[in-house]
Amino acid sequence: MEVFYPKYYETFSCIAAECPDSCCKEWSVDVDPQAAAFYRQLSGDLGDRLREVLQDTEDGTIMTIENGRCPMWRADGLCRIQAELGHDALCKVCREFPRLTHDYGDFIELGLELSCPEAARIILSGTGNTILSRFVPGGEEPEYDSSAMAILKRTRAEFFTFLETTLLPFPKILTTFLLYAHSVQEELDGGEKAVLLPEVSVSGVSAAKDLRPLQDFFLSLEILTPQWKTMLEAPTVTPYWKNGHKSLLHYFVLRYWLQAVSDYDIVCRAKFVVAACLLIGGLGGDLVETAQLFSKEIENDPDNVEAILDGAYSHPALTDIQLLQLLQN
Ligand code: SF4
Repeated sequence: MEVFYPKYYETFSCIAAECPDSCCKEWSVDVDPQAAAFYRQLSGDLGDRLREVLQDTEDGTIMTIENGRCPMWRADGLCRIQAELGHDALCKVCREFPRLTHDYGDFIELGLELSCPEAARIILSGTGNTILSRFVPGGEEPEYDSSAMAILKRTRAEFFTFLETTLLPFPKILTTFLLYAHSVQEELDGGEKAVLLPEVSVSGVSAAKDLRPLQDFFLSLEILTPQWKTMLEAPTVTPYWKNGHKSLLHYFVLRYWLQAVSDYDIVCRAKFVVAACLLIGGLGGDLVETAQLFSKEIENDPDNVEAILDGAYSHPALTDIQLLQLLQN
């Protein structure tokens, strides 16, 4: 079975105590049943403490947060479980974060989560977007629709080639991307083969500068940190597009494009990507920090992702016209 991964995947290494944010802050960690059972039978101080902080909810067991931190977090930035019992004793989420695995049965895609500051730095440096692959034993008969997957793989590769070589300004790249997604949707729905038109001009769409409707939409979602709320409430700046934005787009497309095989809906994912790029560009600040915070608030919260994918068809801030207007500047 073939395993695909961006080159930057191999360069990641946790910076632990040097981390400006830490994955041990603000989130309550989902603890898998195997780890929860192991933790609960431990003896000594660590076992007592774990029994105190593990909490069963209707969605499974979580590690509760105390004073905004995971209770296993030590002042030196290390995890108490890892320090006392070793890396293998960590629960699945903590063992794997920020590594992502999408197992499609007959192939696997690996990636990194933008919500980790060190991963965000590597991803947005733009030096490791090349997709590599290796063979591993195993694999099984896939359950996905193979003709839909073939379309999605081909069109994603075509878009990546365009992204790598284009000299168009970033708003035009996003415009091309959104219109291409509509063309791919047509092919997925049984229509003509998708066409990528890089120089496409959108007639009859006036320019809009105000990101307020988009910010208000994100303000209506679940919010984890006061910092994110403050950013969304502040007036936006005119997006200043830097080189890192192309890597940001590459990251989102790599992560979400093939997932359309589950429901044949590429347009809602493309709108998610365009809205994310517009918001991150419009909120300003350091690109790595803003993108990392976006990911922590949105990508790591399945309810928020779901709300955006649903809103793609019903919310006025996410209509094609609204997004295209914001890209006309
Ligand atoms: S967020 Fe990333 S760099 Fe920071 S502690 Fe977690 S894995 Fe390490």
